[in-house]
Amino acid sequence: MEEPTERPVNQVNKIKKPHFLRRHLILVICIPTLIIASVLFVVITDHRERVTSESRKVALQKELTAIDERAKAVVKEKKLAAQRAEAEARAKAEKDAAEAKKKAATKPAGTAPATPKCDVTNPSSITAVLNKKHCFSPIDWAPTDLVTIKGYPLRREAASQLQALMNAAQAEGLQIDISSAYRSYADQQSTYRYWVNANGSQAAADTISARPGYSEHQTGLVVDLKVGSCYLECFGSTAQYTWLTQHAADYGFIRRYPDGMTSITGYSPESWHWRYVGVAVAKDMKAKGVETMEKYFGISGGDYQ
Ligand SMILES: [Zn+2]
Repeated sequence: MEEPTERPVNQVNKIKKPHFLRRHLILVICIPTLIIASVLFVVITDHRERVTSESRKVALQKELTAIDERAKAVVKEKKLAAQRAEAEARAKAEKDAAEAKKKAATKPAGTAPATPKCDVTNPSSITAVLNKKHCFSPIDWAPTDLVTIKGYPLRREAASQLQALMNAAQAEGLQIDISSAYRSYADQQSTYRYWVNANGSQAAADTISARPGYSEHQTGLVVDLKVGSCYLECFGSTAQYTWLTQHAADYGFIRRYPDGMTSITGYSPESWHWRYVGVAVAKDMKAKGVETMEKYFGISGGDYQ
């Protein structure tokens, strides 16, 4: 019997079917596995990256905090050093001042200049000119009509005019305060002695303080003005100072030591030092544009002889 060369078609299909199924089964298993593996890979990689960047961030934060703390410590140390230096300087200055004052108190007169020949024999006149060439005669002259304004002694007429001036300024919202007014011959003597001792020489003291018997404050017609804690050089930059340059003459006051007049007045410019000369003279000086008493009254000035 002859073997058939080909199997019938239905038999072929029957045999091939399991082969196809197997192939599909592999695909069915492989594809999801691949997908799951890929997803897992992505998830794990992402997680690892996130963990790494998180820990890096924490480390960076720690580093920044450490730097910040170091910087704060440096600033604190600097501040402490500055405070220590300031305290030491203040203690030294206080000690020096106390020693100089002690010396001045224990040392009898002798550091002050010998009694000069003084020619201001009418010191009670409200237009008396006192400067480094013209001193009080008698040298320890004192006014007899002192009153008190804001706790400072001043001659009656000058005090009442100053009060009117201050009221007018206050009405415009400008408060003016006093830092010094009348100073007696004895006050000036001890002040001058103090500066001679502190500076080691009369020449050095002369640049800071008037010699006793030469200070215009002894007239009882002079005030040093301030605004709160703004005094001396600071006063010249205040609205109060500007107001005074416009209105002080109406109350009889002049700025006694103007800018650029040192060779005439003998004193460096002082925006805070105001002298009462009476309303008529103050207004006339202003009208004529004459800035110094020396020029107005034709009296010599400048430095000590
Ligand atoms: Zn003064």
